[in-house]
Amino acid sequence: MLLTVTSEEARNHESLDVAIVGAGAAGVGVGAVLADLGLDSYAILERGEVGASFQQWPEEMRLITPSFPSNSFGCRDLNAVTTDTSPAFAFDREHPTGRECAEYLQGVVDFYDLPVRIGVEVESVQRHDDGFILYTSNGVIQSRFVIWAAGQFGQPNDDPFPGANHCDHNSRLESWSAFADECVEDPIVVVGGYESGIDAALALADLGHEVLVVDEDGPWQFQGPDPSEVLSPYTSQRLQDAFEHDAPIALEDGIRVERVDVEEGTFDVIGTDGASFRTRNRPVLATGFESGIGIVDEWRGNGRLRDESPSRSGGSRVVLSALQPPVADRE
Ligand SMILES: Cc1cc2nc3c(=O)[nH]c(=O)nc-3n(C[C@H](O)[C@H](O)[C@H](O)COP(=O)(O)OP(=O)(O)OC[C@H]3O[C@@H](n4cnc5c(N)ncnc54)[C@H](O)[C@@H]3O)c2cc1C
Repeated sequence: MLLTVTSEEARNHESLDVAIVGAGAAGVGVGAVLADLGLDSYAILERGEVGASFQQWPEEMRLITPSFPSNSFGCRDLNAVTTDTSPAFAFDREHPTGRECAEYLQGVVDFYDLPVRIGVEVESVQRHDDGFILYTSNGVIQSRFVIWAAGQFGQPNDDPFPGANHCDHNSRLESWSAFADECVEDPIVVVGGYESGIDAALALADLGHEVLVVDEDGPWQFQGPDPSEVLSPYTSQRLQDAFEHDAPIALEDGIRVERVDVEEGTFDVIGTDGASFRTRNRPVLATGFESGIGIVDEWRGNGRLRDESPSRSGGSRVVLSALQPPVADRE
């Protein structure tokens, strides 16, 4: 149980104009903007390392959005977090890995000399008269503004049905090759057929395993302009290529997994309409991330952002909460 402090007591603690929580793509990008604006009383509080979520991606996973310089449009790179940097330039890669993305973010931090404090977890946030009080693993900070850039990677949707604890959520796997090493010859069942699920299937098939992807909607069969609803061209193209090369991937749509039973090392993935798949390999959950924004969820509606949609991919989300009108520059 955390002890809370009064507004009066909070004034005895460190005081900032802006506290950014999280040094991922959003936090580092916003930090660079504040640096450009000339703010000096701000900090980026990060519980792990810069780009911690990217660092935890399975080793083989890559950004689906291409890094491609398009200077003439003033947008250097779709994956850039500032207009004057580019992962494409940094790595000479169109689809950087998570490790490369983290390295790029660290490069931005170094370039802008951003005030990142690593190893500082924000445990709770409380409002007070002059803004907010942040209770962190490193003490209390009061801040006029809080930018919540803590992402969703830390909140996997890993309990979607009974027996999910017998499965592995894709965000928790170090690498597909290490996972595959533990598997026997049975098919590997992947629950969820959106970006992460298809990415898992491609990686595991590439490692010589038979894969069955089960999804209620079957996003692989749709086309559309919203990448949060259909597969990205990068993933669709890889899937098509895989089928052309007879990759051992089966896709089953129209089935909602209702539970996973386990008996003597055998997993039964049970779906709607009596569907059932038996395997001796731990099923993979590619079921996305929780739609909430963690410990500041209660501020939703008080900040500027309203987004009630569930997230399947774990996309960026920045919440700006303030009790006072924004001040862009101190000078
Ligand atoms: C498999 C996969 C593929 C993806 N591919 C793409 C893609 O191709 N293109 C794209 O644009 N996006 C992609 N995304 C989404 C992309 O990862 C996110 O858009 C981006 O990482 C989100 O950035 P963020 O800064 O909001 O969150 P994160 O990168 O998750 O950063 C949040 C940071 O906050 C820290 N943190 C969390 N809670 C606290 C706390 N309480 N106190 C202190 N620190 C905290 C975390 O340690 C982390 O470093 C993909 C996601 C996944 C999972």
